[in-house]
Amino acid sequence: MLDTPIRALLLDMDGVLYHGSTLLPGAQALLERLSGIPHLFLTNNPRRTPEAIAARLAAIGLPRPDPSQVLTSALATAAHLARLKPGFRWFAIGEGGLEAALTAAGGQHDPRRADFVVVGEGLGIDFDNLTTAINLILKQGARLVVTNPDASVDDHHEGAHRVLPGGGALVAPIAVACEVEPLVIGKPEPALFEMACARLGCEPADCLMIGDRPDTDIAGALAVGMRAALVRSGRFRPGAAWPDSLPRPHWDAPDLPHLLRMLEPWLP
Ligand SMILES: [Mg+2]
Repeated sequence: MLDTPIRALLLDMDGVLYHGSTLLPGAQALLERLSGIPHLFLTNNPRRTPEAIAARLAAIGLPRPDPSQVLTSALATAAHLARLKPGFRWFAIGEGGLEAALTAAGGQHDPRRADFVVVGEGLGIDFDNLTTAINLILKQGARLVVTNPDASVDDHHEGAHRVLPGGGALVAPIAVACEVEPLVIGKPEPALFEMACARLGCEPADCLMIGDRPDTDIAGALAVGMRAALVRSGRFRPGAAWPDSLPRPHWDAPDLPHLLRMLEPWLP
């Protein structure tokens, strides 16, 4: 698989291109090199719409992508639920990016007869909506869904790093109360990677995923047959020992400038 050229790239964002509003070294050079090569931005974060994410990339100094180049776990969740049940009814705990995606996929907000209780990473969880969600599952047979499995995620607030609860943590109270396992959508599950291939019109073997997390970006891309490159500029730092349970990426670089030099022979 390694001897074929790379035809398309999938880029994780936080920890690869930026931390908070701070660009990481090599981010602008990478995107300049990719102009003319098909590429998409993939995030497990369902909080913002593709339009808002495109505007945010421009605001921190990167080329503004077309919103169709941005795929979020909210979009992948909505598309997956629409395939399972066209015209599905949903009750969501999350932010605007999730609700917009569920509506755009043809779903109907229905807190009394929802087919799916959808938990998205971000703001919105409280005692009342946990109660609604639990009763929809236990009494109406609604299925529990979560946009992404991350236990915790990194954030930057007023210049300082902090850790936020991820989708996996936010769905846990409902999973515990109902004694059910959620349907999980974001990386490392295949839905977001498959949506990216469909949007680019390419096969997994044509694609390279660049990410900063071994457990989601790298493991997920390798599982669907993509090539994968790790940059150790996010939570997984240079020198950290590779987790025994996870497959190794094709490329492993301390930062984007190193990675770009390693990839150059493989790029169109
Ligand atoms: Mg990341």
